[in-house]
Amino acid sequence: MRTALFPGSFDPFTLGHQAIVEDGLKIFDRIVIGIGSNSEKNGLLTVANRRRLIEDLYGDNDRVSVAVYEELTGEFCRQIGASFLLRGMRNTVDYEYERNMMVVNQMLFPEITTVLLFTPPKYVAISSSIIRELIQFGGDPTPLMPDNIDIKNYL
Ligand code: ADP
Repeated sequence: MRTALFPGSFDPFTLGHQAIVEDGLKIFDRIVIGIGSNSEKNGLLTVANRRRLIEDLYGDNDRVSVAVYEELTGEFCRQIGASFLLRGMRNTVDYEYERNMMVVNQMLFPEITTVLLFTPPKYVAISSSIIRELIQFGGDPTPLMPDNIDIKNYL
């Protein structure tokens, strides 16, 4: 069974994240969406609400699950038996960051393979931080969110 951990802050989970999960399911049998709990600081949604939003999206899909973790991402991969780290890449800034993470992870956790998937072009401008900014200034982020998700239910 090929299990991938898709780690991130997911504050909140966006259309871009959803596209990476959808593509990842073509490669992996099982995807665990891992919310790093150290990301609660300076966050907008509580970790519990980030988790609830993702569960509302994937509750019916037995190939996708959500977990909150506190340890190093590579350690958590070992704990859940994930041999792959799934990440999304929008642009060269993401690339540089992800490449460095990959190099360090490879030194510390050589058995774990990082898989970077390209964001679909229509979602390259979407980020959790833009959504947080929109909300802070009273904007409606619905077009940037997965279908049927009303952010007001998670704030
Ligand atoms: P982190 O704080 O670890 O970057 P994020 O929740 O912002 O956590 O992102 C998690 C993963 O999703 C990262 O690999 C990031 O590059 C990717 N990602 C973020 N936004 C998008 C998007 N619009 N399309 C595809 N991937 C994205």
